[in-house]
Amino acid sequence: MKAFCCLLVLLMVTVSACGSDRPGTDAATPDPPARTSAPLGQTFESDLRLAKELSESYWQQTFSADGLAYRPVTAFTPYRGAGGPDCGGEPSIPNNAFYCPIGHFIAYDADWMRKLYDEMGDGAIYVIIPHELGHAVQAQLNSDFRLGVERELQADCYAGGTLSALVRSGALQTEPGDRDELLFNLAAAGDPTDDWLRPDAHGTAEQRQAVFARGYNEGTRAC
Ligand SMILES: [Zn+2]
Repeated sequence: MKAFCCLLVLLMVTVSACGSDRPGTDAATPDPPARTSAPLGQTFESDLRLAKELSESYWQQTFSADGLAYRPVTAFTPYRGAGGPDCGGEPSIPNNAFYCPIGHFIAYDADWMRKLYDEMGDGAIYVIIPHELGHAVQAQLNSDFRLGVERELQADCYAGGTLSALVRSGALQTEPGDRDELLFNLAAAGDPTDDWLRPDAHGTAEQRQAVFARGYNEGTRAC
């Protein structure tokens, strides 16, 4: 069954921001995951599920192309306010989404995510979830970073590359306004370990948009 989606996210990524000299060799074009339930991409809940399933499908195929086995996250856990799971003893915080390498899961404040969705559109979900799954990929690749900001910017780049692969494969389609939605959302999502809006934690808005654009235009292998 062919996956579809109403949503979508940016296409007119700022090409000028894309100054990488690394080759874009993103060949993976994920097949839509098999599904048996009601239409996806129509509601908050189904967009969440779709963003997670399609992103993991992409990474599964990308890992497979390299002879590696992608390990899906063990849980995709909604929480409310301060009631989220802890990560290695660190309590989760409200208004946030995060990947926890201890347990290999993603958790998100559902009310906060819902608010972003209602106020900014579905692009919020399609930036935040691929970003967090980008951290799950880094964990599996044992990626090493000197600075936390490098880890965050690569996750943004991965998010851009994941989204463009899904758009190219036809799993997702873009709509007018998606670009602004997406770029705005790059400054609005969260991680538990630091303040998402602090430039030294995640990079400036310009840096984040530039690496997202690089991923989008050149694929995740350029990240
Ligand atoms: Zn992050």
